[in-house]
Amino acid sequence: MRPILDRTHDAAAKSWVETANLPGDFPIQNLPFGVFRPRGSTAAPRVGVAIGSFVLDLAGCAKDGLLNATPVPAKACEAPTLNALMALGEPHWWVLRNRLHDLLRSDAEAAIRRRVEAHLLPLAQAELLAPAVIGDYTDFYASIHHATNVGSLFRPDNPLLPNYKYVPIGYHGRASSIVVSGTPVRRPCGQRKPGEQPPQFGESRQLDYELELGFFVGPGNTQGTPVPIASAEAHIFGVCLVNDWSARDIQAWEYQPLGPFLAKSFATSLSPWVVTLDALAPFRTGAYRRAAGDPPPLPYLSHADDEQYGGFDITLEVFLRSQKMREQNLPAARLSQGSFREMYWTLAQMLTHHASNGCNLRPGDLLASGTVSGAAAESRGCLLELTRRGAEPLPLPSGETRSFLEDGDEVVLRGYCEREGFVRIGLGECSGQVISGG
Ligand code: MN
Repeated sequence: MRPILDRTHDAAAKSWVETANLPGDFPIQNLPFGVFRPRGSTAAPRVGVAIGSFVLDLAGCAKDGLLNATPVPAKACEAPTLNALMALGEPHWWVLRNRLHDLLRSDAEAAIRRRVEAHLLPLAQAELLAPAVIGDYTDFYASIHHATNVGSLFRPDNPLLPNYKYVPIGYHGRASSIVVSGTPVRRPCGQRKPGEQPPQFGESRQLDYELELGFFVGPGNTQGTPVPIASAEAHIFGVCLVNDWSARDIQAWEYQPLGPFLAKSFATSLSPWVVTLDALAPFRTGAYRRAAGDPPPLPYLSHADDEQYGGFDITLEVFLRSQKMREQNLPAARLSQGSFREMYWTLAQMLTHHASNGCNLRPGDLLASGTVSGAAAESRGCLLELTRRGAEPLPLPSGETRSFLEDGDEVVLRGYCEREGFVRIGLGECSGQVISGG
């Protein structure tokens, strides 16, 4: 897991795709993977890579022989999802990334460039689809700030439960209701119990978002065979943005004793581009620095490299635009900004813990970090925290306020990495508009 910096991270590298050299999420140093088809068509989905304002069709490149120099089987690029590519593992990903970098570099031969150009489609003409068939989805709770803030709403004297600093807490989410960015999200119905009144069934009145980082499993592990922490990252293909929509009123009533259920399973939104760990290498940082007196991670979750490089400095932001803001032509308002570097548990620790009982993870499984909140008030990653369960509503530029989400609200998550000496890369966005459940 030591970061390997190579020519694909060179800040001086430019692409002949001119829009990739403008400030944006997809410079030649990024090369995230996704699945797309021409907008308005019913063509089979295909694997692509984002470059500037275009998507490069990898299936087309493979057919054209442009990837012959790599050991990546053409069928992994010609599949309708990323699962086959995810299953290949390193060094296939690294070799493919290097090949794509060469094909797209400004100093590529003119003949190569002409051949590659034929496989570019403007992003504006692409329909972006879910990147993988997600067999299983697991959601963690890896921000100690989120856990503390939420815990303090329910247990002011004892916000953090005694297992938190030992166990990467998680629950099994629902894979069938994962949707790609842009898909509207219907307000769920469920049981809620307002105050001392008897339980009722109806539309959630406390709908919330959760700002999370998702990560896709690459090669899986055999059932009964745990994944040692030293090799955990070899099982991670890359990261994306996740909005783990949550109905707080349903959650509050149903969650004991088995944890979240219908308050979460109605929808989870995903950004379409998967940014590889190779692309993130320049933005690595140390794992969370535990306070003096905190227990060290148990040995199976402990590794010197993970401690030194297991964190990622990814800036994560949430924006909201209400129906009224759209009518007034107001831009989306930023509700929060934080960094993934403040997470208590690393990706490697979460994956290793997940497999530590012998549970088999499979290519394309989605693991998510849990709400990303930092120490600062402006880095709180959900409304439950930002409004203290609705007690302190947020003002919006339209003059409205928000305790929880209203119908018509569009929530947009964004993520990017910046570091002196390197080119900024972005995760793109994960958006979803709340529509009435009625
Ligand atoms: Mn969550």
